[in-house]
Amino acid sequence: MKNTFTTLFLGLAFHISLGQGKPEWAATFDQINKEVTKNSKAYQTLGDASKKIGHRLTGSENGKKAEQYAFDLLKSYGFDDVRFQPFTAESWSRGTLEVLIGEENNNMLPFKAVTLAHSPVSSQVEAEIVDMGNGVEADYLSNPGKAKDMIVLAFLGVLPGSPEGTKSLHRSEKTALAIKYGAKGIILINAAPGGILLTGTASVTGKLIPIPAVCIGREDGLELKQALEEHPEFASIKMTNTSGMITARNVIASIKGSKYPEEKVVVGGHLDSWDLATGAIDNGIGSFAVIDIARTIKKLKLQPERTLEFVLFMGEEEGLLGSKAYVEQAIADGSIDQVKYMLNYDMTNDPKGFSSSMEGSKALFSYIGSQVQKIDASFKNGFRFGVGLHSDHQPFMLQGIPTGGGSDGHLEQSVLNCYHADCDTFDLVDKAGMTNTVRYSSMLAFALADAPEIPVRRQTDAEVKEMLIRNNLEEPLRISGDWRWK
Ligand SMILES: [Zn+2]
Repeated sequence: MKNTFTTLFLGLAFHISLGQGKPEWAATFDQINKEVTKNSKAYQTLGDASKKIGHRLTGSENGKKAEQYAFDLLKSYGFDDVRFQPFTAESWSRGTLEVLIGEENNNMLPFKAVTLAHSPVSSQVEAEIVDMGNGVEADYLSNPGKAKDMIVLAFLGVLPGSPEGTKSLHRSEKTALAIKYGAKGIILINAAPGGILLTGTASVTGKLIPIPAVCIGREDGLELKQALEEHPEFASIKMTNTSGMITARNVIASIKGSKYPEEKVVVGGHLDSWDLATGAIDNGIGSFAVIDIARTIKKLKLQPERTLEFVLFMGEEEGLLGSKAYVEQAIADGSIDQVKYMLNYDMTNDPKGFSSSMEGSKALFSYIGSQVQKIDASFKNGFRFGVGLHSDHQPFMLQGIPTGGGSDGHLEQSVLNCYHADCDTFDLVDKAGMTNTVRYSSMLAFALADAPEIPVRRQTDAEVKEMLIRNNLEEPLRISGDWRWK
């Protein structure tokens, strides 16, 4: 009895010191390191897809080409089981836009602008412009009645010189406020410099909004603000868009687990992009990294204990349509119970640490990271614990599944300025950074699937609810219609 207890105790201590890891991962990581350093195809294939396809908007012809491209690429890497997971959802796409602005409403000139997603299918408004500053509630409260029947001009982000502590809102929330205060339309000034135009949704719920919403460049916008201080300005916004049911396809491939084939670790990233550029950063770098993680593990014939499932999601930009469809189908067929972890790569570049939605993952992730560090000292092995929304991990997290990925990555400010914008093109991609994403993430994905035990389990419904409330996520989830508790 005593003997057994001692053995048990020593075994336990041994496990804790390794974070439930395996010393033999060191050799596997070495193989991964060599393979990715020498043969990574992530950068090259993203460049090729950007040139051949262009943008990857969900539901469009380009979107279909991107799905097929990912499918064929995975096939060429030896995945015989690649499959499409089709889904239908309501989606939006831009049509025509004409914005005119001028001092007199009978003499207005064309103004460079783009439509924000979920603007009406058809809209034609003309009104005087009113400057609503940052477009947050305080701006409307200090100018009572001013926005009614006007076209609101507001800044995305916080204007230089705003009162200290001014908090910005998401573009969709600024649009919701303009609607609430009776505006006929909204013109949002991009915060990023250089005439960059930004798109993305202007709707808090993902449903169509009742007024037209457009984005204009920062310099043009600030000039317009200046002019408004001197005299009235008028705007005419005329647009057409398409909204309706679309079909799109997630692309899925897997490596069967050796010991627990019924348990899986999902490694995903969204393949779709907005349509103003080619979505190289959002999310070419993440999705093509995921495809190359799959390539690497396949090429090395590595077989972890659990199944690794690689998923390229579509529809993320229109409201996580693909990952929601994946989770819904998994609930319907019962396979949701098989998903033990989900790693998500969205705009991840050169992560120097790992992240998780569950603190209990720390010992294992830190052990894996310490093995990565032995190969590459520039990997800092930080552990970031956090619970957030707005990417494809969300539907998994809402089912209580542990989620994670890379942390402490790096993107230049000039690159971040092109987020959702007409300059998100392949020249922004950092080849070395993307290769690092593949190297470190292949190691994490393999080891997590190969761990003797995954130290965190799926949360109960009550635990999920409590976690969301604790992280102040009830309100945003209620606004988007994703709160499923009372
Ligand atoms: Zn994204």
